[in-house]
Amino acid sequence: MSVAKLRPVGSRVPNLSGVCPEADFPWSHHYHTVYLNSGTAALAMAAHLCRILWKPGSTSPEVILPAYGCPDLVAALVAYDIKPVLVDVSRGVPWMSLVAAERAVTKETVAIVAVGFLGGTERLEALRAVAYRKGVLLIEDSAQVMTPGSCDDPVADFCVLSFGRGKPVNLMGGGALLIRRDHMAASLPIIDELEQSDLNLGLGWRLRRQVFNALLAPALYGILERIPQLGIGETVFTSLPGVHRVNNMEGLLARGYAGVLKRPVFEGQYMETFGFLAYEGWQFPLRSIPRCLLRFPLFAPSEEIRDRAITRLNRRGIGASAFYQRSLSQISGVARFLDAGSEKFPNAVDFASRLLTLPIHENVTQANIDVMFDALSTLSTDQAPMPLPVTGNR
Ligand SMILES: *Cc1c(COP(=O)(O)O)cnc(C)c1O
Repeated sequence: MSVAKLRPVGSRVPNLSGVCPEADFPWSHHYHTVYLNSGTAALAMAAHLCRILWKPGSTSPEVILPAYGCPDLVAALVAYDIKPVLVDVSRGVPWMSLVAAERAVTKETVAIVAVGFLGGTERLEALRAVAYRKGVLLIEDSAQVMTPGSCDDPVADFCVLSFGRGKPVNLMGGGALLIRRDHMAASLPIIDELEQSDLNLGLGWRLRRQVFNALLAPALYGILERIPQLGIGETVFTSLPGVHRVNNMEGLLARGYAGVLKRPVFEGQYMETFGFLAYEGWQFPLRSIPRCLLRFPLFAPSEEIRDRAITRLNRRGIGASAFYQRSLSQISGVARFLDAGSEKFPNAVDFASRLLTLPIHENVTQANIDVMFDALSTLSTDQAPMPLPVTGNR
């Protein structure tokens, strides 16, 4: 059996040689960009600013998060002593229940985080309305979405970008906080207090980039995935080591962003190829097909079928994945930051147990898509396990 494996996600790190494109980002009209050490750091700073701008006197500030999401959401808040308050998602989707979000707002709430998922944005208008009615701010976590939904209509007070591995623009780390221009005067004095550094883009960085890009190849990815120490594909809580500014990231982002615009678009082809699954009870959990899907999400009719599909696809060299695998409160290390005995989140648990993602990055070939189609189209004709022969009455 071959160990080659088409990676589940991830784009190449951009090249530093050649002419750097102009840093002309679609969000710049409404937002000021501050480059930070990670997306988590950017979210931490966004929440911190919301608290300082909105409820400076609060001694126990709270921020609302979806109960299905990555543990970095929690790490960001607790870094500034802000309490994460989870809200269940609606059934079969990664989006927060609007009613539950509204109900979760207390007098300590400073913001709601609208978290984009695999390229799709949250319902920003609706969450803006909730935030407005309740007198709290709105943060758009656009770590998985390029570009943020607030670009044209600046509904979010702050937006967050991530440039880590598996994100739309991969710069091997880093993030950005987008500050809506009406918040600049109040925010910049706080940003100015942060430590600053330059990213060293010398030989070391260039070598790291070469190695990184080489490891994305199926032959090497398949081997890496088998090294348990690397923990590839696992979701664990890691605390945020700190927040600092990175001065020279703009040119890199301009290169990465130019790469996003040039990426081949497979989305329509996937919808057509996998559309038949709708007849077998599968669903596409996003509201529309985004411009730049990070992974192609499918919501399976049951956990058992989802798991069977993942096993089958991986055996055939396709890095299909369950993504976060658990709801946020079930991810190890997260519960200690939540209210003891806080309510359960049945829809988030169900979503985590039935989500399947297919690779949809720039190195997917037609042959890969054919294998995925074949593996999924014959799934329901799998032999059910044979019943055990009745023994004892021979
Ligand atoms: C990855 C991610 C983050 C954190 O970004 P890092 O750059 O990895 O710290 C935050 N929010 C979401 C939704 C993410 O997917």
